[in-house]
Amino acid sequence: MKTAFIYSDAYLDYDYGPTHPLKIIRLKLTYELIRAYGLLDLPAVQTIITRAAEEEDLAIFHSRDYLNMLKQANNGHVQGSAYSYGLGPGDNPIFAGLYDWSLLVTGATLQAVDFVAKGQGGIAFNIAGGLHHAMKSRASGFCYVNDPVIGILKLLGQGKRVAYIDIDAHHADGVQAAFYGTNRVLTISLHEAGYTLFPGTGFEYEIGEGEGEGYAVNLPFPPYTDDEAYVWAFEEIVPPLIHAFRPDVVVTQLGVDSFYNDPLTNLQLSMFGFEKVVRRIKELAPRWVALGGGGYDVSNVARAWTLAWAVMNGIELSDELPKSYVEKAAKVGIHEKELRGSPKFSSSTQSKEIRMEVERFVDYLKKTVFPKVGA
Ligand SMILES: [Zn+2]
Repeated sequence: MKTAFIYSDAYLDYDYGPTHPLKIIRLKLTYELIRAYGLLDLPAVQTIITRAAEEEDLAIFHSRDYLNMLKQANNGHVQGSAYSYGLGPGDNPIFAGLYDWSLLVTGATLQAVDFVAKGQGGIAFNIAGGLHHAMKSRASGFCYVNDPVIGILKLLGQGKRVAYIDIDAHHADGVQAAFYGTNRVLTISLHEAGYTLFPGTGFEYEIGEGEGEGYAVNLPFPPYTDDEAYVWAFEEIVPPLIHAFRPDVVVTQLGVDSFYNDPLTNLQLSMFGFEKVVRRIKELAPRWVALGGGGYDVSNVARAWTLAWAVMNGIELSDELPKSYVEKAAKVGIHEKELRGSPKFSSSTQSKEIRMEVERFVDYLKKTVFPKVGA
């Protein structure tokens, strides 16, 4: 099976600002680690250089007035009613080139969609993508343009059935909102519950509306949920729904801000839980458009997405990080030497209350969405 990795050093021309948690250097580090392990030299791998999307691509989801505002803000200066579109100091800063950045990220997602949909290959990975919070007319949660939604719309336009699986620690609110009323897309989001984390949505009772009832699925984990309860819930809910829905393509958002040491969130996943879920997605997806997502510990991001890319290509990696990468990473203050490290938590660390809460929403989903989707 052919795979494509989409990347460009042009990402490094953009910067959310010195105090912003989203560090674009994480993409470069991921690329460097993947390269250092030799994972771009495999016979089945095609490396594709990112090409920017066109405004018309963005307009299949976003409103014209919002896109006009993004274009005006591309010079890095606040314009007119920017605040009413979610732009300004804080989460969604106005930095020079923010529109160009959004075109690049979305372009890479469209290249991944093309690669997978045109039968060239089975899996494509855009590590820069997965900006799942952007709304039709509003920037949100570090996201200006919703590349997952645009990619899914392109797939629908080609008559494909699409399932979307989002394992970022934050609820995939922008993607859910875009497809809330349709049964042509099954959206499944696993995240920290909205009581304790942005964007405050994604409760189990949000299951879609009208024709879409049952086709929006949310697994809202309590803070401090660890690998064991998370993977258990994934296994109970996701495979039965995917088998019943029978997608042509699975689109995933592989955010790694769910890790125990991520500075922004409170879940307690480790590389081991992440790896289990990615392996399971590979078994479930007939074709797979993989996108990046959150992740605010840059070393986690590089190691986790390298591991994901190895899984996508059926390669087992040694746990010792390649020396060439370790040297490069040391220059930006990263000193890990192991890909996975040792398991951080044992099952005994998980509290009974968390386990009960996870069992409760799993039961709820089996009673409500399973019959609608036919699982
Ligand atoms: Zn996130």
